[in-house]
Amino acid sequence: MPFNTILRHANCGTIYNKKASSVPFIVGKRRGATVSSATRIIDALLFDCDGVLVDTERDGHRISFNEAFRRKGLDHTWDIELYGELLEIGGGKERMTKYFKDVHHLEPFKSMTVLEDQKRLVQDLHTLKTDIFMELVEKGAMPLRPGVRRLMGEAIAAGVPIAVCSTSNERAVSTIVKVMLGPEVANLMRVFAGDIVPKKKPDPAIYLLAAKEMGLNPERCVVIEDSRIGLRAAKAAGMTCMVTKSSYTQGEDFTEADAIYDCIGEENEKRFSLTDLEMMVAGKQSLKA
Ligand SMILES: [Mg+2]
Repeated sequence: MPFNTILRHANCGTIYNKKASSVPFIVGKRRGATVSSATRIIDALLFDCDGVLVDTERDGHRISFNEAFRRKGLDHTWDIELYGELLEIGGGKERMTKYFKDVHHLEPFKSMTVLEDQKRLVQDLHTLKTDIFMELVEKGAMPLRPGVRRLMGEAIAAGVPIAVCSTSNERAVSTIVKVMLGPEVANLMRVFAGDIVPKKKPDPAIYLLAAKEMGLNPERCVVIEDSRIGLRAAKAAGMTCMVTKSSYTQGEDFTEADAIYDCIGEENEKRFSLTDLEMMVAGKQSLKA
């Protein structure tokens, strides 16, 4: 799929790319080969974790809140739409507090009017929810997003290094990689996560650290992100950034993205391939030359 035009895909929303290029080049047959950095077009593919590998908010955190309510005997369920609205409130404890106050005519706040009691309940629920979330991660109960495994497979076959760069909790990210991707892929994948850098996204620190540690030229790195803060981090690091929107980032501003899609896409309905990414990076390099 050439990145030199405005495209629409039959099964997704608008697909577009602002950095037009139709520079021809040939990608050699490199399956299984070790490609030296001198001949590589792309130095590495760098994946965000939450929202890119898995739709963590929708399929992980939301499910965990609901299960925590159930285990505590509370008759509340946050559906996909309601949870989207609640995400406006940062922090899980704050989110629950706001929700229970909004439905104060129902239990648990109906018969719990002392502030300290409310706080204790919310704290207990949050601890339980966090444990449930880790159980889901460890069981591999969150599905991988479409095309993640395919694109990683293409990169591995072509000798292009892959890594995950996330400023979320290191244990959760490493477990998602190990459990969801399996040991074969996980062994080939560097993970940069958690408090390894002093500043979280949108600061570019996590991407710059990956470039430094892996010996990458940022201009030849392609990042896959799902959110505006991730996009800003990648662009501030000087990298190409593909956005694959997730459930709760649909309405965000992705003006600076090199391309925007609804997902990476499986083989039969792929939005982009490694070759497409190579064409994009090669085109940008030739425009600069
Ligand atoms: Mg994300």
